[in-house]
Amino acid sequence: MSVHDENGLREQIATLGESLFSRGLTMGSSGNISVRLDDGGWLMTPTNACLGRLDPARISRLDGQGRLLSGDRPTKESFLHMAMYEERPRSGAIVHLHSTHSVAVSCLPQIDPCDCIPPLTAYYVMRVGKLPLVPYHLPGDPALGDAVRGLAGQHSAVLLANHGPVVAGKTLEAAVYATEELEETARLFLLLRGENPRCLTPEQVAELEARFPRD
Ligand SMILES: [Zn+2]
Repeated sequence: MSVHDENGLREQIATLGESLFSRGLTMGSSGNISVRLDDGGWLMTPTNACLGRLDPARISRLDGQGRLLSGDRPTKESFLHMAMYEERPRSGAIVHLHSTHSVAVSCLPQIDPCDCIPPLTAYYVMRVGKLPLVPYHLPGDPALGDAVRGLAGQHSAVLLANHGPVVAGKTLEAAVYATEELEETARLFLLLRGENPRCLTPEQVAELEARFPRD
């Protein structure tokens, strides 16, 4: 990947980070974004950085072993991203947020841990699919990385209990769109609680999965 392309990706991380922040999908210095580069390394948002005010030049540049080559120190949650990438060789970008409605769903006692949100809409099925719950861990606990690794081969998105979603996509744009779809569907799910909503049938879900496979 040329330096020009890498600079373009740095700009894109900052632009999309600002977009997520300005719409209230991430608060304070929470949330992080990464992109896989052609040489096997990564761009990763820095620790304690606000996604709304990223400096493209200071985004962490990591090598294929996750070592810092340049920029600020990476987010302490980079191990979550690494765990996901290890199991998803075709994923090019990952977004992790503490977005309110997704976190709210992750705190509900009665959700199905294999499939936290029912198939309410076609776009949710197409962009997110079946969303498993990762049990609560202390932030930074390496066992959390192992738990994500165990699910990431089968799922492009996972929901960390009492914490938030980790979402992979083929491109950064795809990962952001899937994260937004997840957050909005979490909101719909909460709006419809107690209403016994009509969900897509297993046949309708299977048709979508066959026609619109995710990476
Ligand atoms: Zn987090």
